[in-house]
Amino acid sequence: MRCRRCGGKAVVAVRRHNAAFCKECFLTYFRVQVERAVREHRMFGPKDRVAVAVSGGKDSLALWDVLAELGQASVGVHLDLGIGEYSRRSRKVVEEFAMARGLPLEVVDIEGEFGFGIPEAARGPRPACSVCGLTKRYALNRVAREKGFTVLATGHNMDDEAATLLGNVLRWEGEYLARQGPVLEAGPGFVKRVKPLWRLSEMETAAYAFLRGIEYVVEECPLVSGNTQLKAKEALALLEDFSPGTKQSFLAAFLERGKPAFRATPVYLAPCSRCGEPTTGEVCAFCRARSGILARRERARAGA
Ligand code: SF4
Ligand code: ZN
Repeated sequence: MRCRRCGGKAVVAVRRHNAAFCKECFLTYFRVQVERAVREHRMFGPKDRVAVAVSGGKDSLALWDVLAELGQASVGVHLDLGIGEYSRRSRKVVEEFAMARGLPLEVVDIEGEFGFGIPEAARGPRPACSVCGLTKRYALNRVAREKGFTVLATGHNMDDEAATLLGNVLRWEGEYLARQGPVLEAGPGFVKRVKPLWRLSEMETAAYAFLRGIEYVVEECPLVSGNTQLKAKEALALLEDFSPGTKQSFLAAFLERGKPAFRATPVYLAPCSRCGEPTTGEVCAFCRARSGILARRERARAGA
């Protein structure tokens, strides 16, 4: 296999482009894809203050690394979810990554901040990933806004986006479809969110992390079972294997032709009566979930 750009020995094959690259040319290809996504979708400019959500997995660390390589200043934000050894290892990996590269990092201890960890939340009626996702969105937005960041970048890749899109299409979630895309613009109380890796597959971010010598958490979160997005990913992987490029064209066609057909219903936001974060109701979804978790704890104590 020869590199498409320089003719040298290829080490990474990108089937959907019918191409293969040597190490240096693959790293260049990766950076170009990120630059293109940032430029085409006007993700951020020189005046923006960019926060990168870093979990310790390959995607978010690859994103933080490539932004630094491209000369984009950013601050990492890591949420310690309190999921035992998994969270301890994730935090350590992120802290070591930041220290080795001299990159600034903010760590938020979810349990210390909100009074519960994700394992406790997972014992309730909602699936773990649902409460965890809600907590992460809430905490990241709040931290980013309070610290004065204008953009929050996340490491969602093409596989994540295609799986989310498939899930939304299967249920015809019009509101979610109207909002899905590489950029979610800022709103009152909400920081702009961007996904600079959306043009790159999971295999490509893994290859990038490997070739850049990035150490990341390989183990899966112990609470992942029941995550429906994983099933959507498996289904798409079957189609991709049969016809390389399926995920990319599914996403690209949606952004070009599908998404404009969906309009988000205008919402009227007011501060949550408990925490002050923007919400459509009186009490925000996070505060309601948090109250449920704390009430369950009290009941268990009283019954013990
Ligand atoms: Fe949270 Fe689910 Fe991800 Fe674990 S797998 S970190 S519970 S969203
Ligand atoms: Zn609230």
